[in-house]
Amino acid sequence: METKRYKKNDAFTILWTPSKCTHAGVCVKTLPKVYHPRDKPWILPEEGEIEELKSQIKNCPSGALGFEE
Ligand code: SF4
Repeated sequence: METKRYKKNDAFTILWTPSKCTHAGVCVKTLPKVYHPRDKPWILPEEGEIEELKSQIKNCPSGALGFEE
C-alpha cells in the first residue's frame, strides 16, 4: 500500500495512505490551514504545531493519516 510522506522538519513527518482515505474531510475541518484538498501537495505540515497535528491525526476515522517522529 503506497504511503506518501509530508515532512515538517527532521523531527516530524506526516504520513498519508491514499487508498485508506475515505475523504470524510475530518482533517480539513479540524485544521484547514494544514489540509488543502484541492492543492498539490495537499498537506502543508509546516502550517501546524506538532501537538495539534498529532491530536488531529489520531482523529482520522480511516487510519489513512499517521506520523513519524
Ligand atoms: S480525516 Fe482521514 S479519512 Fe478523512 S479525509 Fe482526512 S485523511 Fe482522509
